[in-house]
Amino acid sequence: MNFYIMTLFPEMVMNGLDTSIIGRAIHKGLLSIEAINIRDYAFNKHNSVDDYPYGGGAGMLMQAEPVYQCYQALSEKIIAGKAEEAICAEQGVDSETPVTKKPRVIYLSPQGRTFNQTMAEEFAKEEDLVFLCGHYEGIDERVLEEIVTDYVSIGDYVLTGGELPAMIMVDCISRLVPGVLHNDVSAEFESFQDNLLEYPQYSRPEVWHDKRVPEILLSGHHANIEKWRREQSVIRTAKNRPDLLEKAELTEKEKELIVNLNS
Ligand code: SAM
Repeated sequence: MNFYIMTLFPEMVMNGLDTSIIGRAIHKGLLSIEAINIRDYAFNKHNSVDDYPYGGGAGMLMQAEPVYQCYQALSEKIIAGKAEEAICAEQGVDSETPVTKKPRVIYLSPQGRTFNQTMAEEFAKEEDLVFLCGHYEGIDERVLEEIVTDYVSIGDYVLTGGELPAMIMVDCISRLVPGVLHNDVSAEFESFQDNLLEYPQYSRPEVWHDKRVPEILLSGHHANIEKWRREQSVIRTAKNRPDLLEKAELTEKEKELIVNLNS
């Protein structure tokens, strides 16, 4: 999977993502991450890419043209790369049927849909994803209208730029790419799966600060362990995120458990 991040601070993004699990996945060739500097597409001698907003108001706005030129160059590069790959794979692409599918462009914005695990699963199906990071007071609306396919927020608060949100999304989506986690199963049974939070987990030693690991986890009885974990997930979700339970599929017994918890 290929991530392209359009930003004014490429080193911030690359330094943050080129480590640990994501860094290893890049080095193994499972992912590629490229940060493209929007400033390289500045069209004036001062290299500036922002200006005052029409109508007044605080702060500066990123201008439409550098963002648009940056996007055009990037999408042409992605499309050319795809055409070359297809030819190499001898899939019968000829000059009259060029590959023209443009990649999805995600604008990180506090005004977008709030990012969640279901959206991450949907984005993980794409081969290429482009992220557009705003800065200052944001970006001229006209270029957003032309190039953006998805508006995504990471929560109801305002940050100084879209770089951290883009990094969060890349990290989350990357974990779903086959091979990125050592054990792909660990991405399957996690919080938000089936709208439930994950059950509590324990590792060695069996006793720590006088607290024992629950006996059932030492029993080796897999069916009972699964039953216990499911119950703990339901209890934990009811306590910490009751809003999730509205969409969770629960048995009658589990619904009863929640009623008892709340009474
Ligand atoms: N004036 C904008 C508004 O009120 O909607 C906020 C601009 S914010 C200071 C600058 C940039 O940070 C935005 O263009 C966006 O890319 C990014 N940003 C800030 N908060 C964000 C959030 N919660 N989720 C995603 N991106 C965010």
